[in-house]
Amino acid sequence: MKRHTPPAPAPRPRPGFPARLPTAGSPAASSSGGQPRSALAGGPGRAAPGPAVASSPGGVGMDSQAVRSAMVRRLQAQGVSHPAVLAAMGAVERHRFVDTALAGQAYEDTSLPIGLAQTISKPSVVARMVELICQGRSERLGRVLEIGTGCGYQAAVLSHVSREVYTIERLRGLHEKARENLRPFRLSNVHLLFGDGMLGFAQGAPYAAIIAAAGGEDIPAAWVEQLAVGGRLVAPAHTVAGRQNLVVIDKTAAGVQHTVLEAVHFVPLKSGVA
Ligand code: SAH
Repeated sequence: MKRHTPPAPAPRPRPGFPARLPTAGSPAASSSGGQPRSALAGGPGRAAPGPAVASSPGGVGMDSQAVRSAMVRRLQAQGVSHPAVLAAMGAVERHRFVDTALAGQAYEDTSLPIGLAQTISKPSVVARMVELICQGRSERLGRVLEIGTGCGYQAAVLSHVSREVYTIERLRGLHEKARENLRPFRLSNVHLLFGDGMLGFAQGAPYAAIIAAAGGEDIPAAWVEQLAVGGRLVAPAHTVAGRQNLVVIDKTAAGVQHTVLEAVHFVPLKSGVA
């Protein structure tokens, strides 16, 4: 397994690893001096998540790379085209993030249970959302915030397209499961946080991108505040008639632009921790 070197030094101190979430009301980090879209294309932060040939948990087979490559071809056929996103989807061993009994389905385009009534998003949805935050960028993103770590799969995908990933989970059991799942990958640019992601994570702000894996009534104001100018937020949110749609928020110097995309089905965004 290839280890990757630590990311380049940040312009100001950041929380250590494991980082701790602020209590509500703690001062937000300065929103100046950020790095909305970093220019570290293929830089030292690009981690390789283990050997191409998997050790076959749950009978995925000796060549999980071939199964992932087939998944990537299906994603391309569905319209995913960003090279870094396709590379990340082809690299991260999704079967290592689900129970052994489900590993055989890991490369099907289906969401799967990960415990505590939560699910890992289907690969096409992960690829779609990650592509949205990478759209128009050939270089690696700067800091990315993920709300809803779940089993850690999407965080691993994000670690391939960004310099640093801060990911928050409100269920302690899943936060710990994600830590276990991610440990063998040695992704030193992934910071696992336990807490209520509705507050975002001000210490890491501003973020080049924010991506939520759980949907609420509205997009929390803290997320938009913590987004860098030039940054993009992608989240499921309830729209008219009780539907849930993907919403994109682009923050520019001129203001904030909302775009409502296709209907989606994500687990609910809940406040507090459990
Ligand atoms: N990205 C995950 C998907 C997990 S499902 C993966 O790859 O597995 C969404 C997750 O969001 C669930 O684990 C749920 O507990 C979490 N969640 C819901 N509301 C949250 C909140 N306010 N803060 C942090 N996590 C939240």
